[in-house]
Amino acid sequence: MSSDQTTRYATSFSASTVALHAGRPRGQGQALVSGIAQSTTFHQEQVGEKVDYAYSRVSNPSVTELEVALGELEEALPAVTFSTGLAAETALFFALLEGGGAGDHVVVGQAVYGGTIRLVQQVLSKLGITHTFVDSTDTLEVARAITKNTKLVFIESPANPLLVLTDIAAVAKVCKAAGVPLAVDNTFLTPVLQRPLDLGADISVYSTTKHIEGHSSALGGAIVSRDEKFIERLKFIRKSTGGIQTPFNAWLTAKGLRTLPLRLKHQSNNALVVARWLKSHEGVATVNYPGLESFPQRELARKQHIGNYHGGVISFELRGGVPAAKVFLRSLQLCSLVEHIGGIETLITHPATMTHGDVPKAQREAFGISDGLVRISVGIEDTSEIIGDLERAIDAAIAETDGVEGVEEVEVVAVARG
Ligand SMILES: *Cc1c(COP(=O)(O)O)cnc(C)c1O
Repeated sequence: MSSDQTTRYATSFSASTVALHAGRPRGQGQALVSGIAQSTTFHQEQVGEKVDYAYSRVSNPSVTELEVALGELEEALPAVTFSTGLAAETALFFALLEGGGAGDHVVVGQAVYGGTIRLVQQVLSKLGITHTFVDSTDTLEVARAITKNTKLVFIESPANPLLVLTDIAAVAKVCKAAGVPLAVDNTFLTPVLQRPLDLGADISVYSTTKHIEGHSSALGGAIVSRDEKFIERLKFIRKSTGGIQTPFNAWLTAKGLRTLPLRLKHQSNNALVVARWLKSHEGVATVNYPGLESFPQRELARKQHIGNYHGGVISFELRGGVPAAKVFLRSLQLCSLVEHIGGIETLITHPATMTHGDVPKAQREAFGISDGLVRISVGIEDTSEIIGDLERAIDAAIAETDGVEGVEEVEVVAVARG
């Protein structure tokens, strides 16, 4: 099963149909759902012939099925998939940045996944790759940060965890003019709700661990592009550093992808209901959600996101600050306190101690991530039941912390965190 033996849907079908059918081999007697190619290696008839599959660190039929589907969803080349989102980012940086004597430089949006900040700040910098964090909502700031050594601009929109948007088309123009590729971490919306390549970006980056797999069962990452030379270079890096997706996780991720459009639209609808309810609650100080009328970048959200859907992730702050947030988080009975987004269940995270726990406090605060901020990834439960759980927990927080302003510091415990 090579990619050219599969039916191509992308140009004539909607995202729902492409997600459901793309990448699946068809034909007489072909299983509707492919088996898992759980094999490290593949027979070869003779030496010296080019084969699609020889060794699963380079390529594997189950991995290909996922890659073709992800690529077609974005009208791009087959994706290059990895064992995790951060393995994908690492390979992306290795493919475009040389460091050492070359002194390569990367411009990174300051509002990105905490693990991305750690990778750039604590790993790449050791290899001689320099970086500048920018407020990517300010296109001029991005333009000013680009130097003659800049080899990549990396942004995330909507960004973790404040849901701040970057005008991808505007930043893409700046990058094109400077001759620097633009990569967009599109994990929160996926190609179903936002298409960075159509907006002028060169590379889409995914943690498939989140909405794409969608069932909290398999880690994974993917890079999508229409640039053949870049994709070849990325595959070379993957083969050389060994970060490819596993066959079983590729199979699970492909299964998740089939219902991605259905889930994401439903979760967007649920998130809007929950965000509006939070906004109306007197115990809630701020709510960040691009679907709200009060969202400061409402116009950009409408322009950039497909179908006026804005994803399943909301963040908010309780009036009682950190003490209230602590009571709230331990009072939840239905929503799960986990370090995750994009599953089918409603998932709640405390960014200051979880996703951004390795980002220094001063830097977190400069980026607007207060210790009292709570992130919620809305699932597919009935919204009245999600709201019922939130209401109970907020009421408990108000009852316990009434009148106490949020001054207490959270203790950031150095445990294993993503
Ligand atoms: C989770 C996440 C990542 C990292 O992905 P892993 O699969 O956990 O390695 C990168 N970017 C964003 C936006 C994420 O949410």
